Amino acid sequence: MSSKKPPKPPLILQVFMVIGILLVVVSAFALSLAYQAYLNGDSLKTLYHVVIGAGGLALAGYLLAKVRFRAVSLVFPEIDVVTVLECPKCKLKKIRRFETGDYVFKKADKCDRCSEVMIVTQIFSREKKGEMAKLG
Ligand SMILES: [Zn+2]
Repeated sequence: MSSKKPPKPPLILQVFMVIGILLVVVSAFALSLAYQAYLNGDSLKTLYHVVIGAGGLALAGYLLAKVRFRAVSLVFPEIDVVTVLECPKCKLKKIRRFETGDYVFKKADKCDRCSEVMIVTQIFSREKKGEMAKLG
């Protein structure tokens, strides 16, 4: 029915991840140099390496968090489960978000047009679209 895209992380994310890991290694090295400089009493060198180490770690954390967030959203495409209700009297159809306890042939909400009790006729999932976003 609908075209299914296999979840393959783009190359840019893999590059980000490698850069992030390299930054962690370089930052750890800079911090160890800072510690050595601190032990030697070289305050300028200590400050210099702490700045590099902390900056690198912050950037690495930012990059890795971004990659992780993107990866999660790639693995789980946004899916909406919707319930279709139909009025047995006037045949008015209504689509709303699935609610816990919904099942086909369940007597649910009242018809907006004639106040007859509507019946659930379909429950299905579909990819999130702008149209559904309006239903909030
Ligand atoms: Zn009706």
